Amino acid sequence: MTEWEMVVGLEVHCELATATKLFCACPNAFGDEPNTNVCPVCLGLPGSLPVLNRHAVELAMRVGLALHCSVEPSIFHRKNYFYPDMPKDYQISQYDEPLNVGGRLDLPDGTRVGVTRAHLEEDTGKTTHVGGGGGRIHGADHSLVDYNRAGVPLVEIVSEPDIRSAEQAKAYVNELRAILVAIGASDARMEEGSLRIDANVSMRRAGAEVYGTRAEIKNLNSVRSLGRALEYEVRRQVGRLEAGEAVVQETRHWNEDEGRTSSMRSKEEAYDYRYFPEPDLVALAPSAEWLAGVRAVLPVLPSERRVDLARVAGVAETDAAVAAVVQQGLDGLVTAAVGAGADGRLALNRAANELAHATPPDAGAFAKVLRMEADGRLTATQAKGVLAELVSAGGDPEAIAAAKGFEALEGDVVAGAVDAAIAAHPGEWERYAGGEAKLAGFFVGKVMAATAGKADGKAVTALLRERLAGR
Ligand code: ADP
Ligand code: MG
Ligand code: ZN
Repeated sequence: MTEWEMVVGLEVHCELATATKLFCACPNAFGDEPNTNVCPVCLGLPGSLPVLNRHAVELAMRVGLALHCSVEPSIFHRKNYFYPDMPKDYQISQYDEPLNVGGRLDLPDGTRVGVTRAHLEEDTGKTTHVGGGGGRIHGADHSLVDYNRAGVPLVEIVSEPDIRSAEQAKAYVNELRAILVAIGASDARMEEGSLRIDANVSMRRAGAEVYGTRAEIKNLNSVRSLGRALEYEVRRQVGRLEAGEAVVQETRHWNEDEGRTSSMRSKEEAYDYRYFPEPDLVALAPSAEWLAGVRAVLPVLPSERRVDLARVAGVAETDAAVAAVVQQGLDGLVTAAVGAGADGRLALNRAANELAHATPPDAGAFAKVLRMEADGRLTATQAKGVLAELVSAGGDPEAIAAAKGFEALEGDVVAGAVDAAIAAHPGEWERYAGGEAKLAGFFVGKVMAATAGKADGKAVTALLRERLAGR
């Protein structure tokens, strides 16, 4: 497999967090009784006319700016098609003159993925195929359609084919979600369909310049499914290519239960949709003032927060703990703890690993635990115990440590216990010295027993090595 390179470009559909739909006053709400949030406009009844939602445009502009796109004058097109999920028989979308073009998204590991465009369009209704067929239309007894979603504002964010692995694809979606949530554009809840992914994937020989033929996997609704589907496609496509068969350009469906993709239809081309400019809407050309106003309210983005945090903590921007801490929204806490005298590296690691999914503790108390650990007054294990207590019940770290019986062990107590263990087990010591490295665990266990578990395992191992070197 090593001689093949995977090429991926993602199309991410993101529902915008507006109160109402894109062209009418119907509520934009998830989970309501089907077909209750509808009106003549979103049902496409004759004589109705669309009116563009200003807030949706503003959120779409935020998306564009956050992705470093150029926000351009744009127009809407009708994309004609004949599935029952769109009662008008067309979807109002943007085609060759989209709102946002030419941006980028930088992954936490430093990879830069180009963003081709991020255009505004309306969502379709939702069809559910019932009774056989495993949720697909083939084999279903009947289908149900809910038009509550028809007309909900969407931004479709199309990436350049710059992604080279399933891991990168997942990181791209995670980063994009974080941005969309940070700027208030969307709740980005994949389980509610607020964010849906189409993945385009092809294979080429490593070092080749031209891309291979791609397959497009439709409607992936979790980051995990995206990763699994891509890994499956790599095996399928490489299998074909190595057998001398061509990869067919087509649209494929991901089956979560079977863990494989299957052909849905041959790829549709632009001409299939009979695009033409939407005659009921005027061009959308945001003024410089409007754009400046939108830019002014953009919050600090995750990538910028990573840069700031890395500087505060004195580590590389691409450090995994930096990414985790920003993702968990704990960068403010770590920054405050460092300000209160905590070690940056330790604060990052403890926040990333011990405080995930927890209500963050008070920064001063957090810093105090970290200082106690750095001073050697608490072992790593004890510090984690104090943090857990701090998070669940609050309180003063000194008092928590005292209540848990975590009094400081003097360094020479540990050294004494190490020497006693060596003296009591000369046979094991000879074998350890002779290269049986796993016997370190035996001695650590003896020292732990002698100190009622209060010694720091790392310190004990270091002492053992010291004794070995001094033999
Ligand atoms: P459409 O799907 O409407 O034909 P595009 O041709 O613009 O649209 O491509 C859609 C997506 O497919 C983009 O995200 C792009 O990066 C990706 N893509 C294009 N060619 C390839 C390829 N050979 N391999 C993988 N992804 C590709
Ligand atoms: Mg496509
Ligand atoms: Zn409506």
